[in-house]
Amino acid sequence: MNRLFANLPTTVFEVMSSLARETGAINLGQGFPDDPGPEDVRRVAADAVLNGYNQYPSMMGLPELRSAIAAHYRHWQGLDLDANTEVMVTSGATEALAGAILGIVEPGDEVVLFEPMYDAYLPLVRLAGGVPKFVTLQPPHFRLTEEALAKAFSPKTKAVVFNNPLNPTATVFSNEDLALLADFCRRFDAIAISDEVWEHVVFDGIKHQPVLGLEGMRDRSVKIGSAGKIFSLTGWKVGFVAAAPHIMKVLAKSHQFLTFTTPPNLQTAVAYGLAKDDSYFDGMRQNFARSRDRFTDGLRTLGFDVIPSQGTYFLNIDITPLGETDDVAFCRRLVTEHSVAAIPVSAFYAEGAVKNVVRFCFAKKDATLDAGLERLADVV
Ligand code: PMP
Ligand code: GLN
Repeated sequence: MNRLFANLPTTVFEVMSSLARETGAINLGQGFPDDPGPEDVRRVAADAVLNGYNQYPSMMGLPELRSAIAAHYRHWQGLDLDANTEVMVTSGATEALAGAILGIVEPGDEVVLFEPMYDAYLPLVRLAGGVPKFVTLQPPHFRLTEEALAKAFSPKTKAVVFNNPLNPTATVFSNEDLALLADFCRRFDAIAISDEVWEHVVFDGIKHQPVLGLEGMRDRSVKIGSAGKIFSLTGWKVGFVAAAPHIMKVLAKSHQFLTFTTPPNLQTAVAYGLAKDDSYFDGMRQNFARSRDRFTDGLRTLGFDVIPSQGTYFLNIDITPLGETDDVAFCRRLVTEHSVAAIPVSAFYAEGAVKNVVRFCFAKKDATLDAGLERLADVV
């Protein structure tokens, strides 16, 4: 057995969702919307299964999807990508992350990771033989500092794995933070593997800034996106990668032996969806913002200390004012005694550096959020 995998715990998402199922709790833990996703996009997928071509599509992804991705990023983020040489379709952002980390990192290379970090990053860096160097971000602002970056980067740094908007903190890095990151990547000749799956879920007029679009980053960035987040269809697992041709050539090699390809009907539907009018994307953002406000107001009225959510469909609370010091124990009690599942944010820190923050997913119907609030009323 490979000890790396044998010794890994089951992910916190699976643990909390299983507990929620067993106890009949309202699941505000694992991030998935209870909205079925846009009907027209689902219909295109269904029609493509019945009438379309269902054999292996091309390894790099259907040409119409690759063109749609390039056009989408040109329209929304001003990026100039060549659909033939700079865009690839993967089976979810998870595969794109695995392919990028395994394709770029060699044993002994240092990889800068910003914690809290999405749970897939660290095992993949270890699998590649990389040496993680952590930048630990602290609540409530989770900002980058020059001192922390200076400690983490070295001449051995091969890559950084970055996530913006940041899951689980629901924060968006400022332009100053991004400029600082780009400056370190350039100075240390590092590649930024930039997980931007939440790029469309930003609130309060924030405009998503892709790392690949920052000065000097065009040839040293891997941009990762996910249709699962863009269309609230998390089970579809259609991801995409954008990178300069010299990087993409390598990513294509790792992709060919990870999954090789992705279901063609879903690719057809995502190509259709990415070309939807701005009103779809703006409407999605507005709906999530409304749910965020409803849940934030409800929690604050109950007396919880809510850390503002700027992006993603998550928000966090600081449990310190409740006299709590252990987020895992708190979440266990929340699910068993109050029938609400949430996620302890310490699970996103390599060594649990922060234990006072708990994440909720608010991408739920009003009635579900209100029922959750009712159950949380006697926690404070
Ligand atoms: N990265 C981040 C930051 C995520 O939040 C998620 C999904 N929750 C993923 C990657 C995985 O995306 P996918 O489902 O497309 O593999
Ligand atoms: N990305 C989702 C979250 O953060 C969960 C993904 C998963 O279950 N692996 O909740």
